[in-house]
Amino acid sequence: MAQNILTVRGLKKYFPVGKKGLYVRAIDGIDFELKKGEVLGLVGESGSGKSTTAYTVMGIHSPTAGSIYFNQRDISMPSSKRPLELKKDMQIVFQDPGTSLNIKREIGKILELPLKVHNMAPKAQIRDRIIELLEMVDLPADYMYKYPSTLGGGERQLVAIARALATDPSLLVLDEPTSALDVSVQAKIINTLMRLQSNFGFSYLFITHDLSLMRNISHRIAIMYLGKIMEIAPTVEFFQSPVHPYTQMLISSIPVVSKEEEKLKPKRIKPQGEIPSPVNIPEGCRFNTRCPHAFEDCYRDEPEMKEISPEHFARCHLCS
Ligand code: SF4
Repeated sequence: MAQNILTVRGLKKYFPVGKKGLYVRAIDGIDFELKKGEVLGLVGESGSGKSTTAYTVMGIHSPTAGSIYFNQRDISMPSSKRPLELKKDMQIVFQDPGTSLNIKREIGKILELPLKVHNMAPKAQIRDRIIELLEMVDLPADYMYKYPSTLGGGERQLVAIARALATDPSLLVLDEPTSALDVSVQAKIINTLMRLQSNFGFSYLFITHDLSLMRNISHRIAIMYLGKIMEIAPTVEFFQSPVHPYTQMLISSIPVVSKEEEKLKPKRIKPQGEIPSPVNIPEGCRFNTRCPHAFEDCYRDEPEMKEISPEHFARCHLCS
């Protein structure tokens, strides 16, 4: 069995709001592992805490509590305190390449910077390496002389991916890498990411609100709701045998492309209400305000994560 490249234990990230001791509990105690060469989809609605998880794993936010291990090494500190050689092994691709790239820099210069900072190539070979990085994402070599402002959103995201690859990382955190792009270019970005993953064996923590996208590209899926993981399972089992009412609600509302998928789809569960504020998380099960199956215990006791079958876990009083 593949070793874990990333291990997250009891991770919390709270943000203070106002002066009354209130906190946004963006991440409220999560545990998960990412294996070497695995694609793990971390899926949730807006406000679920999935992007905060990405930023905390990357050290952009420091954890309020809990631990993050990269290859068994504790990295539960802000990025500024992480060793440089370790930082180069973990890279992030942000949602919006328009803001993550410096539009005043030539693309060659954008790609050169991480190569120099991390001593990735002798000076004489930097140009060749820049060309190689562009080719890895199917962009022509002469793009090194262009500026991001002259490119479309899809090509800018390819440059952002090339920049992430410059340090030869083994783990990529992909924070909604296609959600700011036109539908017409989303498939190209996904295909490029999956080709790179298959060719180089990268591990991806893939953050998205798009559950249907994960069906075809992830090995396992974790569903986040109000700062907690509610269900995590291998992808096939996740879609064939979802046990958490929230997962069932999400799966029942996504389009299917085949009769087989239609047969497996849970009966349509009408979403109830909105996701509550992460400042006022409901007592007991945090999904109780929207759950069609909520009963007395759900308003009093927070359910523990239970193992349903090997690698399949869910957090619900009805799960056993
Ligand atoms: Fe619904 Fe109760 Fe399960 Fe929460 S614990 S998902 S409220 S049945």
